[in-house]
Amino acid sequence: MGDPINFGQTRSVIFDFDSTLVSLEGLDVLASIAGSARGPEEKAELEMKVAELTRETMAGNVPFPEALIRRVGWIRPDRRDVSRALEVLKRSIEPGVKEAIHFLRDRGMKLLVVSGGVADLVRPISLELGFAGENIFSNELCYEGDVAVGVDPENFLARDQGKVHLIRGQSLPQPSVMVGDGATDLEVREHGAASYFVAYVGVCNRPEVVRGADQVVRSFSELLSFF
Ligand SMILES: [Mg+2]
Repeated sequence: MGDPINFGQTRSVIFDFDSTLVSLEGLDVLASIAGSARGPEEKAELEMKVAELTRETMAGNVPFPEALIRRVGWIRPDRRDVSRALEVLKRSIEPGVKEAIHFLRDRGMKLLVVSGGVADLVRPISLELGFAGENIFSNELCYEGDVAVGVDPENFLARDQGKVHLIRGQSLPQPSVMVGDGATDLEVREHGAASYFVAYVGVCNRPEVVRGADQVVRSFSELLSFF
């Protein structure tokens, strides 16, 4: 990382969702809620293995598509678990996010959410934060009756380098900045789908992600200081 970069000329900002706009990981929350119905031992085991796979994936050690499918298959949340998880996540929005969205939008920047998380959680919160519906992208859970058993495999975001391909396909006004905490966010800049990558470490500090960042920020107010 060299001198601080001024992002004032930026025309698009792409945000990750889990551990960036909110302080939790949606699938970890789902695991905890769905696990509650299965007895304390099974709950603890489910939470542990889901959280561990989340960590390994965000550090870039496990391919994202495989990790997503495995975690949803273990959790198998029903619709009530999903709406409970949504309530928990709504209370975990990072400080300053709404202000940051307004600030950047007032300066004419195009703002997107691109998340490997699931739409039932990502979409309502992103809408509430002020993102336009057509600029929110995430995975879709596939339900059998009331139980989510997998994700839509046709969605770009369920595939390898999903964020890279999805963002490229948007032909965004440039320059663009990707803001996130995970390996799949860094990948967006590494593959040229965004001009810059800002590592958001307000929730998780992953050395292998921070190492590749153009800028590192601890909060949304710090993020705005570069614009
Ligand atoms: Mg994240």
